[in-house]
Amino acid sequence: MKSSVILSLIALLFFPHLLLSSPLDPIEPSQVLPRPLILQFTSSLEEPDDSTLNQLRCDSWRFAAEANNLAPWRVVPAECGTYVKEYVTGQAYRFDLEMAARESLIYARTVEIKGDGMDAWIFDIDETLLSNLPYYASHGYGSEIFNSQEFDAWVEQAIAPAIESSLILYEEVRALGFKIIFLTGRSEGHMNVTIENLKRAGFLHWDKLILRGANDRGKTATSYKSGKRREIEEEGYRIHGNSGDQWSDLLGYPVSSRSFKLPNPMYFIP
Ligand SMILES: [Mg+2]
Repeated sequence: MKSSVILSLIALLFFPHLLLSSPLDPIEPSQVLPRPLILQFTSSLEEPDDSTLNQLRCDSWRFAAEANNLAPWRVVPAECGTYVKEYVTGQAYRFDLEMAARESLIYARTVEIKGDGMDAWIFDIDETLLSNLPYYASHGYGSEIFNSQEFDAWVEQAIAPAIESSLILYEEVRALGFKIIFLTGRSEGHMNVTIENLKRAGFLHWDKLILRGANDRGKTATSYKSGKRREIEEEGYRIHGNSGDQWSDLLGYPVSSRSFKLPNPMYFIP
């Protein structure tokens, strides 16, 4: 047997892949790409404990609330009271607020400001610019039925702090040249305390501050706020951005070019 044949047989025995493929053969994708990742949930996985299950259920509840799938809802479920407290007093709420502000600003920077003073950005006030967390901290973080008299007494103290990421967004949007319009569900009777609170929190300048007047009583927030947006547009403003913690700040016609929903798992306003 010729030595070359013997060498070939030895190579085939120990290195078959070298002889069965040529350098010019196309490489099979499976040779260069990682195998697809297949997650397999086996029956050997342990059942989550009750605490983890409750956390997951409250995650689902909060998602449904934020997505407006729950609407209307009156109160945070009792089993999610601690969950909501930990969310709004922890980093997750702050990160969610910062994300909303960051994306708002990215969009705001793309808007062409025409220079005629009619490019507007609308901000809601409560849980958008001002935080009522100190009030809700002493009222179960939304797990108690809303008490309008006690809340009004809190509003009249005018000490709600700013939501920091919203304060920065407000300053940036204003510096870009937008007209700033504050549109709130607070009643006109709270005009002075609202101005006092806004200034104390660092919101020093605005072009319009709209509160609920006598003609707005009995309207849903969606109807009241969209009606005000119509009036604003009829004055010639172009509403490019609208920031609010409630869907009722954002829904209804006319709608802003972009709407930004801030998180709020503590209460729902229709
Ligand atoms: Mg609000």
